[in-house]
Amino acid sequence: MATVFTKIAKGEIPSWKVAENEDFYAFLDINPLAEGHTLVIPKHVEDDYIFHLDDDVYLGLCAFAKKVAVALKAAVPCKRVGVAVLGMEVPHTHIHLVPLNSEADLDFRKPKLELSPERFAEIAGSILKEYEKL
Ligand code: AMP
Repeated sequence: MATVFTKIAKGEIPSWKVAENEDFYAFLDINPLAEGHTLVIPKHVEDDYIFHLDDDVYLGLCAFAKKVAVALKAAVPCKRVGVAVLGMEVPHTHIHLVPLNSEADLDFRKPKLELSPERFAEIAGSILKEYEKL
């Protein structure tokens, strides 16, 4: 059975898209640690552990995440874009990209932001716009 993230990549479940190419997809996390918290996934490979990916998929995912991080930093001013891989919840490899201004911003135990659909759409649109310039 397809994972929720495969369904998102296929457009069967809605998401706030921030970037896409043939093999990879990036969208806003619905329970963000910070505005702009993004998830980056391979579209055609569901393996739930990043270090089980074939090298070409792994390297392609990292290169795509790098480009998304550049767009994210341009759209959401921050000191750094933090990178995390957890995979405790959704069994489909994904990289978290989180705008950081301090170390504490990458603490997954802290309460998540509650944003309106309009705000999610606004943030996603601004990241996508930066991505399309690259
Ligand atoms: P983890 O597997 O531990 O890396 O956590 C999965 C992440 O996916 C969490 O941060 C969730 O908020 C996020 N998430 C789960 N379902 C969705 C969804 N439908 N759209 C966007 N983000 C999601």
